[in-house]
Amino acid sequence: MIELLEKEYIVIHHTGIKNSNDNSFLVWESIKKFHQIKYKEKFPWYIADYHFGISKDLRVFNGNSIEYPCFHSGDNNINFKSIAVTFLGNFDEELLDKKQFDLGVLMISDLVKRFNIKYEKILKHCEIVNTSCPGNNFPFEELKKEIISNVKDESKKESIIL
Ligand SMILES: [Zn+2]
Repeated sequence: MIELLEKEYIVIHHTGIKNSNDNSFLVWESIKKFHQIKYKEKFPWYIADYHFGISKDLRVFNGNSIEYPCFHSGDNNINFKSIAVTFLGNFDEELLDKKQFDLGVLMISDLVKRFNIKYEKILKHCEIVNTSCPGNNFPFEELKKEIISNVKDESKKESIIL
């Protein structure tokens, strides 16, 4: 049994599967099936190598429940302390849609607030191991900037209410 884990990092991925007209739900189902082949026998709670998936058609999909780790980063020290968020698509080959980006900002800002994640601990996968993930076209610095300003705006709002 794995104990409830403290979350220190958020790691950003892409799925590496190029967006098409396929239903994102079916893509997510096939990702889950593929990841479960590796781990579900040993860890019955295992659903996917990600906690959340954000799609171009603006859905947020669930993978592993947040209290469990995902084996996603190639570094087990980080795996056990991180939240894995993936954007559906292949951002080596395509550009991230603005609406998908915006949904990601909202979603990740919420996680930053809930788990009190330090900004410097929002990482892209390629900062941990040698990979292009989340893709050479992925606007990671913009994403981080938006998250920071979003979280700061929200805390300003709260201080006005208080
Ligand atoms: Zn990755």
